[in-house]
Amino acid sequence: MDTIERIEFVITYACTGRCRHCSQGEHSNRGKVIDADAAAETVRNVTGKHKIRSLMTFGGEALLYPEAVYRIHSVARKLRIGKRQLITNGFFSRDKGYIKQVAYRLFECGINDLLLSVDAFHDECIPLEYVRLFADECLKNSIPIRLNPAWLGSYDNHNSYNTRTRQIIAEFKEMGIAEGGGNIVFPKGNALKYFPEYFDGKSYDPYEDNRTVCFDPDSDLKGVFYQ
Ligand code: SF4
Repeated sequence: MDTIERIEFVITYACTGRCRHCSQGEHSNRGKVIDADAAAETVRNVTGKHKIRSLMTFGGEALLYPEAVYRIHSVARKLRIGKRQLITNGFFSRDKGYIKQVAYRLFECGINDLLLSVDAFHDECIPLEYVRLFADECLKNSIPIRLNPAWLGSYDNHNSYNTRTRQIIAEFKEMGIAEGGGNIVFPKGNALKYFPEYFDGKSYDPYEDNRTVCFDPDSDLKGVFYQ
């Protein structure tokens, strides 16, 4: 049986952020959500033919549609996919009770690696107090969290964004959350538009080559792996 390193699902391209480094640009493709039942069925089918090491969900902001996230991860846990990851900016509601409930459901559906995208870019458009609240609820539910910041230029580059990101990282580390390393902003979408001085003008996505299997709200899930 072949091994697939990772299967990925873009839950939606809708987002609560409007980050200046976002590779998805201005989020013109909003409001669509992945078909969770078809996605769950796809996970079952792929698992029947391949060994899958990890499953990842992200967006946009995936937690705008948490039911789809719960559904896909519940199946992944049932099928014993070892690593079950969610990338989120942590801001999907201002309702404390709802935030608490979502954190519990994420624990319940078996997410075991939550990557929290916090940095200076997100700080410009997302209220961090709600992200802290969400992170705190996840910690209370013993969900493993890692910080997932984006760095401009390089990790060591001296610029105002990286300086602010280090401050934010320090604040979250005080809560007991580990730094996951994050990623370097790459020349695609908004990043190319707002930070051209860091790139040579060509669009490039380093993750495209690495993706083994990736589905998004536009994928024909019913036509994949069903033969
Ligand atoms: S970087 Fe993430 S949080 Fe920011 S706009 Fe893009 S998808 Fe949304």
